Amino acid sequence: MLDTQVTVIGGGPGGSAAAKKCAEQGLKTLLLEKKKLPREKICAAMLFMDVTVRQVKQEFGEIPSNAFADPPYLYGDGILHGLGPDIKMKICGGRKTPSILRSRFDYWLNEKARDKGVEIRDEARVTSITEERDSYIVEVEKEGKRQKLKSGFIIGADGATSMVRSYLYPDLKPRFTQCYQEWYEGDIERLYNLDRKVSHAFLPLEAGLPMEPTAMFQKGDHFVLDTDTKMGKAKELMAAGKRVIKNCGIDLHEPARKGAALIPSLYKELFSGTFVPARGNILLVGDAGGLLVPITGEGIGTAMMSGFSAAAAIVRAVESGGEAEKYYLENIDDMLSKFKQIYSLAPKFRENSTKGLEAWMSVMDEVWDLTDILF
Ligand SMILES: Cc1cc2nc3c(=O)[nH]c(=O)nc-3n(C[C@H](O)[C@H](O)[C@H](O)COP(=O)(O)OP(=O)(O)OC[C@H]3O[C@@H](n4cnc5c(N)ncnc54)[C@H](O)[C@@H]3O)c2cc1C
Repeated sequence: MLDTQVTVIGGGPGGSAAAKKCAEQGLKTLLLEKKKLPREKICAAMLFMDVTVRQVKQEFGEIPSNAFADPPYLYGDGILHGLGPDIKMKICGGRKTPSILRSRFDYWLNEKARDKGVEIRDEARVTSITEERDSYIVEVEKEGKRQKLKSGFIIGADGATSMVRSYLYPDLKPRFTQCYQEWYEGDIERLYNLDRKVSHAFLPLEAGLPMEPTAMFQKGDHFVLDTDTKMGKAKELMAAGKRVIKNCGIDLHEPARKGAALIPSLYKELFSGTFVPARGNILLVGDAGGLLVPITGEGIGTAMMSGFSAAAAIVRAVESGGEAEKYYLENIDDMLSKFKQIYSLAPKFRENSTKGLEAWMSVMDEVWDLTDILF
């Protein structure tokens, strides 16, 4: 006998979206999260795409005020500093962008899923999966004890370094963008006279460094410095960004906390079919499936979209008696074709990054505009 029909591994937006939808459809659903909830997630935590905001509102309701950061929105253009006069650029795609606190936002999604009947276990790390004839055995470690659970379907929503993905594709070697953040106490407007309602960028144009700005934005009583770049370069880029910041007359104090995270890049594999984010009744959603918008790395909305798609696929599989893989791949096909169109700008993005500021800014605008048109 099954312990649960659906096991969702991971309590981020992808996991909560999938679990909530499964439970709403009457499926017995268990969500396992390795960290204690509410959990932190290193992220810029902006809801860039209108479709994300619409989807959250439609499926979960109005975002509670305590899940917004202060300021709750960043407005349109960002400001690029340190290269002569300040330059306006579309850091947030040029529009008013909700700025959230991931721990609170994600926990609100967890609670909404729980309200629909999802059983949530936190501090419950999935250590292995084994396949039986018509089901899966999920091994979970909680409070030093191991437990085996029999499940009909698995949704791998376990993020960038997904163990479910490694189980399905032990030889797959994803490329990653490396992200590094520092959080500082204080308010950029009061401390440095910088507008706290926009994102600021400091671009070191130094030889040997990728053309990536260090972003600075306010989140409540802290402000964040954020760099996202190729593996092995994040800290170096942050140090160079801080030199630009210093040259702008901004004296940073010691950060209150620091952290690093990864963003997976699996586009080549997804488009060539060498990596398929599903097998049988195991479906990968969000970062686990490499399902983020190419180049911009927006992944909250697409994690939720793929989570809903996975739930819908499982419902169809239960009804038809077939496997969920086929339905899931049908459901995410449109999203993948949009990713493909945006990814086609990647060579131009790389090329323009070597051609100076204007060329780089113009391709970034193109990426944001295309994302807007497509999603
Ligand atoms: C620095 C940075 C900035 C970003 N900024 C933005 C942004 O502004 N806007 C945007 O849209 N996207 C942004 N992203 C991307 C976004 O954070 C992710 O795409 C999004 O969180 C993906 O959601 P998810 O549910 O797939 O995975 P996650 O949110 O990563 O959740 C996965 C969960 O699985 C849990 N887990 C992992 N392994 C196990 C296990 N074995 N057992 C049980 N649980 C497990 C983890 O603890 C985690 O809670 C950013 C990413 C980074 C790194």
